Amino acid sequence: TIEPARRMKELPTQFFARLVGKAAARIAEGHDVINLGQGNPDKPTPPHIVTKLQEAAANPLYHKYPPFSGFAFLKEAVAARYKEDYNVDLDPATEVAILFGGKTGLVEISQCLLNPGDLCLVPDPGYPDYWSGVSLAGAHMTFMPLKADNDFLPDYSRIPAADADKAKLMFINYPNNPTGAVASSSFYEETVRFAERHNIVVSSDFAYGGIGFDGKRPVSFLQTPGAKEVGLEFYTLSKSYNMAGWRVGFALGNAKLISLINLIQDHYYCSLFGGIQEAAALALTGPQDSVHSLSAMYEQRRDALFAALDEIGWKAAKPGGSFFCWLPVPDGYTSESFSDLLIKEANVVLAPGVGFGTHGEGYVRLGLLAEEARLQEAVRRIGALGLFRN
Ligand code: PLP
Repeated sequence: TIEPARRMKELPTQFFARLVGKAAARIAEGHDVINLGQGNPDKPTPPHIVTKLQEAAANPLYHKYPPFSGFAFLKEAVAARYKEDYNVDLDPATEVAILFGGKTGLVEISQCLLNPGDLCLVPDPGYPDYWSGVSLAGAHMTFMPLKADNDFLPDYSRIPAADADKAKLMFINYPNNPTGAVASSSFYEETVRFAERHNIVVSSDFAYGGIGFDGKRPVSFLQTPGAKEVGLEFYTLSKSYNMAGWRVGFALGNAKLISLINLIQDHYYCSLFGGIQEAAALALTGPQDSVHSLSAMYEQRRDALFAALDEIGWKAAKPGGSFFCWLPVPDGYTSESFSDLLIKEANVVLAPGVGFGTHGEGYVRLGLLAEEARLQEAVRRIGALGLFRN
């Protein structure tokens, strides 16, 4: 008999897998399902990046093992992008690690820093992969509630002092998945002070850094004075460049933390295919108009969606960034019962908020990942259920 290790049994199950299963079952029954429950960009990668990969695939240099921590040109490219976009100086050799998507780094950082029994501060609601890393490290979590009345930012004054003193690592994520909230420089300054006071490493997840609305470019944590002393930022091409399938991410910032991430990566992988690294470098250093037009596209979709929500009487706050809308569920439903109802009665898939933590209860997450007409159709179908009052 095969007996998995305890850490495998303790790993949280991927709740998205269940959601995907429910949607697939409806599709198999022949229904026209509008799936807005996941975070997969619906547009293809810009063609100049694809062409670069096709050319680079023929380069025999890339048919051999790549250098362990990746090619210097890709580290230089991401450092140059941070300089241009955020005026942040990064030494490509010591302050940049190349990852298989941001996801791997977000899990590995916990393994780099946490011993069994250690404590990590995690946002609730939040991206579930933070929990996985903490669980694999055998460490514990204290959840930082993100509430509407505090703009979905953690309130550091409410974290019990004993937890703040014990914590070794914390995660923050703006633009935020799932709430769509954005953070200001003053929040990041407060974060650095909190981290310094309690000696906590900050992991800033900037996966949606490229997607900001209303003329505001999201601020990077690394723009904050002192940020590099206390932490690092995870950055990815998945969302801003429509490259989710390519699995290109980065850890940026504190050199000691970067060396730990590189060390753990050396044991798991031997970096990404060189052709992907070359095309990723072009994404970062080449024309950026597709990135800028992506924000404009999601903003247009957001506004079309909110006009439709308004018509059916569904009141919610607009997101400032990311491509997620965080919508309150009507009275009498939990996030899961409401999400189930929408799948069954409207063939619309939205993610139940409870999948992102207990403070996600009372909300569903809608991804702006379909054309405007489909988003409007989804709202029309939901409106026809007659659950919202004008
Ligand atoms: N962080 C957040 C908040 C995300 O939503 C995602 C992807 O959905 C990631 C990180 C990971 O992105 P990737 O591994 O594709 O870089």
